[in-house]
Amino acid sequence: MSDVCQSCAMPMVKPEDFGTKSDGSPMQEYCHYCFKDGAFTWPQATLEEFSTKMVSMADQMGMSSEDASRMAREVLPQLKRWR
Ligand SMILES: [Zn+2]
Repeated sequence: MSDVCQSCAMPMVKPEDFGTKSDGSPMQEYCHYCFKDGAFTWPQATLEEFSTKMVSMADQMGMSSEDASRMAREVLPQLKRWR
C-alpha cells in the first residue's frame, strides 16, 4: 500500500514526494506541496478553498477537471487533515 498525502490525496512514492519536518526529516503523512519544513504551505485553507484550488490545478496534476472535482468531493473529506 502506498502512502497518500493526507491533505491533497497525491500518491507519495519517491522520497522527494514527501513533505519535510522542521528538522528536515520526511513527513510521512503529507506531500511536499502541502507540508514543508514542519508547517502546512497553506495553513489557513478550508476544505472548500482547497477543493477549489485542486480543481483549478487539475491540468498541472495530470487530471481532467472532472476527475479533480470528483476527487475533491469524494476523497478530500476522508483525509486526516479535513476530518
Ligand atoms: Zn499534499
